[in-house]
Amino acid sequence: MNDSFPVLIADDNAVSRRRLELTLKKAGYEVTSVDDGKKALDIFNERFFPVVITDWVMPELEGPSFCRAIRNTKTPGYVYIIILTAKESKSDIVMGLESGADDYLKKPFHDAELKARLKTGLRILELERSLRRANDEVKRLSIIDPLTGCYNRGYLDTQLTKELKRALRYKNPLSIVMTDLDHFKTINDRFGHRCGDRVLKEFIRVLSGSIRKDLDWIGRYGGEEFVIVLPETDLKGAAVTASRLREATAENRIPFDDSMIQVTASFGVCSISERDGLARKESGTSLTEQFIQCADVYLYKSKESGRNCVYTGPFVT
Ligand code: GH3
Ligand code: MG
Ligand code: MG
Repeated sequence: MNDSFPVLIADDNAVSRRRLELTLKKAGYEVTSVDDGKKALDIFNERFFPVVITDWVMPELEGPSFCRAIRNTKTPGYVYIIILTAKESKSDIVMGLESGADDYLKKPFHDAELKARLKTGLRILELERSLRRANDEVKRLSIIDPLTGCYNRGYLDTQLTKELKRALRYKNPLSIVMTDLDHFKTINDRFGHRCGDRVLKEFIRVLSGSIRKDLDWIGRYGGEEFVIVLPETDLKGAAVTASRLREATAENRIPFDDSMIQVTASFGVCSISERDGLARKESGTSLTEQFIQCADVYLYKSKESGRNCVYTGPFVT
């Protein structure tokens, strides 16, 4: 466990620093040590250390100032700080702790005591790490559609609104592709809901594999309707992407029990250009909703044209 919590040491006394370093290395810690708070702060700003042990009196930057600097830095996790010093008056201890340190140890340190106090720190850091992971997971779950793994409707609405604003502000193109599986109800009716779910998952797997990993993303609008967001893509580019998605979907074979399922989907592509966006008239519905509704109109045109096809158009309301 120790080696996943690297320790940064700042102490200008070479003998004491060396002893500290050796003791911690022997206990399995990864240690970096320097002779001043200023150097330690520079290193800390380059690389995150969850544990810091600092001396008080140092030539350039003293321990308490170093502590305050760390507390004023935005870090990816909590930093457990121990001040190690020959100063021992009650007022020094109070001042040290008030500068942001978590613990205060008297020099020369007692090996076993130092290790025991570090363990206390590690318990706190472990707890903080697990809370942070749980929090990240809750955040992730709140934006993901559990069946298909793509983004959910809430994320689609908020994120597309941001993309739309950004595209208008910087006059960048932005396209969306709305897609809906063809005759999906018959899949559920013939093979059951479990099969329908499998088909939906496969649909998103195939779509995800045919878009740009770093930029494009997919949101579930509802049921078997999805919106693929293509930032910095004009209508022409989006039409090419949609055709590729259509083909990939139609070519995919989905094994289910003893059957091999094949599905097709219809696509509606809508693109915003600089002029379209700026000429928009006010209405009760948000721009995002109007954008999606516009793609939906094109989607239904491709349903009317016999399904398994792509219909494209500009953003009009
Ligand atoms: P069209 O080609 O006109 O789109 O016909 P369709 O049958 O695909 O469309 P319709 O809207 O009639 O049916 C959609 C079906 O999708 C009905 C609904 O039960 C099913 N569906 C929606 N969400 C899910 C889901 O999460 N899992 C499964 N298995 N089915 C779903
Ligand atoms: Mg459908
Ligand atoms: Mg539908």
